[in-house]
Amino acid sequence: MSWKDECGVFGVFQAPEAAQLCYLGLYALQHRGQESAGIVSFDREGQFYVVKETGLVSEIFNDNNLKYLAGESAIGHVRYSTSGGSTKFNIQPLYSKTSKGKIALAHNGNLTNAYYLYHQLKNEGAIFQSTSDSEIVLHLIARSRQEDVVEAVAESLRQIEGAYSMVILGEGYMLAARDPQGFRPLVLGLFEGAYVVASETCALDLIGADYVREIEAGEMVKIDASGIQSSRIFPNDLPQKKAYCVFEHIYFARPDSVVFGEHVHDVRKEFGRVLAREHPISADLVMAIPDSGNSAALGYAEESGIRFDFGMTRNHYVGRTFIQPSQNIRNFSVKVKLNPIKNVLKDRRVIVVDDSIVRGTTSRERVTAIRKAGAKEVHVRISCPPITDPCYFGIDTPQKDKLIGSSRNVEEIKNYIGADSLGFLSISGMLDAIKSIQPDHFCTGCFTGKYPIEVKDNGKFSIDQQDFNYYIA
Ligand code: AMP
Repeated sequence: MSWKDECGVFGVFQAPEAAQLCYLGLYALQHRGQESAGIVSFDREGQFYVVKETGLVSEIFNDNNLKYLAGESAIGHVRYSTSGGSTKFNIQPLYSKTSKGKIALAHNGNLTNAYYLYHQLKNEGAIFQSTSDSEIVLHLIARSRQEDVVEAVAESLRQIEGAYSMVILGEGYMLAARDPQGFRPLVLGLFEGAYVVASETCALDLIGADYVREIEAGEMVKIDASGIQSSRIFPNDLPQKKAYCVFEHIYFARPDSVVFGEHVHDVRKEFGRVLAREHPISADLVMAIPDSGNSAALGYAEESGIRFDFGMTRNHYVGRTFIQPSQNIRNFSVKVKLNPIKNVLKDRRVIVVDDSIVRGTTSRERVTAIRKAGAKEVHVRISCPPITDPCYFGIDTPQKDKLIGSSRNVEEIKNYIGADSLGFLSISGMLDAIKSIQPDHFCTGCFTGKYPIEVKDNGKFSIDQQDFNYYIA
């Protein structure tokens, strides 16, 4: 995807009603991207079928277009983009007829050398249809001199850098690949004998597929009629440091998923426990900012011995965007999503647990709302460290100057959001809480500015850098 897209991918090979399974998989992955979605299917006659649109999975797909998506194999994608890349041409899966046959591709992650590859390919005559870094991979595959498509894909993947968890559907095969650092998750499952790949295990759960294992960092699997074959993208690569995205565990993944081999809810609860030890305070109750703070708040309450209660109710039917009323309703965007429960909060000293502070603007509005509902004291606890730097690997964080943690210390952030006290989880506390993974196998770039691989583009690959315009619906 273009720079700063958040995404989820799903694929199923040779199962009856493949498109329906894919649709359900995307439904479970909707939290990974709410702007657009697509499915590409492939049938025994060698035909590909494409349905993709802007909107939620539930809005895009219906009986008619799912019937149109014929065949026993399908891949799908959900996407959210922020950097002006919301053109319909960017909706994935991308599909192309290449010299290596027809190919559809769905990609989660961001490439960090896309800008350079884009210009190189363009100078060589490549014509780009989208403003998406993922299209670069299709061009590289099409231009590869390797005759075998798997070799061509591997050769292409060896040229790209950055984060990719990718599913490719070709004529009679499906490929799943994950970058050597393993930034984004990708798992393998089995549904009634058919292989399934998904960004998160919650998608396997919904269709009733069994979890088999993760696609390893640096691994590419080929699934075809003869079964499954695994290979290394870099055949001679030595075991190297991984760079799993810790923000998947903090915020992005669903709590019912197993990510990088760890249960997300358990990890978040442990974050909350460590947070309670690092930043204790006496109070009457612990509450979460729902839903992102739920698991950590439970952990904080358990560890501190202070009771948990629901201090806010969330409206689950609000997406990321909604039409603002023309008259000025104060704090409308916060109120439409979350409403304080006054009886719980009135005259209480409240510990409010959330997963992260990015810009600080919504946290500030929430603290104001909790106070207005009658809370006597508002102590904010955040289950990750201050975010100081942007992500270049697939999480939607704004530029550095928009990140409150980049220019203000904890005391200043506390004053900005209007809390009585504020505590962030420490980096070491966070990493130690994830027991089975060595701390140096995580990417913590958004908290340190130290990225596990060089970011050559520095975020340059966006629609603004290109020389064509699209109608943006
Ligand atoms: P703010 O106070 O404006 O920094 O917003 C903080 C809220 O944003 C927290 O409740 C987080 O759960 C949420 N958040 C963190 N990362 C993201 C993201 N990538 N996309 C949307 N919301 C996020």
